Amino acid sequence: MVAEESKVEIPASEKLAEIIAEVAGCHKCPLAQTRNKTVPGEGSPTAEIMFVGEGPGRDEDETGRPFVGRAGKFLDELIASLPMRREDVYIANIVKCRPPNNRDPERAEVDQCSDYLTQQIEIIDPLVIVPLGRHALGWFMPELRITQSNGKIFRNNNRVLMPLLHPSSGLRNPEHKRMLQEGIHNLRDAILEGIRIRNEIDQRSRIPIDRKHESPRSAPPADLETAASDTNSESESTVVEQAEAVALAETSPAESSVNLFERPQTRDEIQAELNRQRAIDAAEEAAEGQTEKLVVDDRQASFF
Ligand code: SF4
Repeated sequence: MVAEESKVEIPASEKLAEIIAEVAGCHKCPLAQTRNKTVPGEGSPTAEIMFVGEGPGRDEDETGRPFVGRAGKFLDELIASLPMRREDVYIANIVKCRPPNNRDPERAEVDQCSDYLTQQIEIIDPLVIVPLGRHALGWFMPELRITQSNGKIFRNNNRVLMPLLHPSSGLRNPEHKRMLQEGIHNLRDAILEGIRIRNEIDQRSRIPIDRKHESPRSAPPADLETAASDTNSESESTVVEQAEAVALAETSPAESSVNLFERPQTRDEIQAELNRQRAIDAAEEAAEGQTEKLVVDDRQASFF
């Protein structure tokens, strides 16, 4: 008799703890020689929003925690204005050790370290990633400019990106501070877009597609086709897609009328909005001959 194989899923918190331990002992790049403490990242292992900065500063290097100086306090204020708690999100940096004198990390240092961030993103699997500042944005989508992208919604690697200016820039520049305070409230639209993408992917995974015999009529949208067969970010982050995503962010505030943050939402209200989103998606699918009903998974429900 063959014993049944039991698959035990390792909790995200344990996987993240393994990365933290690995970072603590990491000497892959020269920043290990000048750091005081490593700053691997912190927050909820099941966060739906992940903030990503460039690298630790002096306060972070002393404490081992991300965004704890003046800029970090401003970030806390921005998160609280949603309103959310810092513990509900995940905050990390691209490089986990402080570059001396707060210089920009060098390309080789980013290349050595960024695999940790890639793993963190895969484990946490957030609905929305918020790159903070031009260097963080450049790691995800180097073709974008941070001042033009602040608070706008982009699709990248089947995730939603909503870049924001770096909080330290908001401390120095009143206009940037205003842009940050306004931009962060677009997170509600970004989250809804993230839910829509997740629904698309969930549905695709349930519909077997024989690509060889697939008719052009039933072909999935090009971006999903690409995502299913290719993990190269460049292939999906075309300028056209970015423009479409920006247009969505700029022209659909009425579509995203549910306010997830500014006042308490009842579960019924939130469910009604999710139902509305599902109905829109189902109508689009029906138009393409695919009428399978979308199902909101438990994770989405629990997020709200
Ligand atoms: S910056 Fe990253 S790669 Fe370099 S030593 Fe620190 S943890 Fe390792």
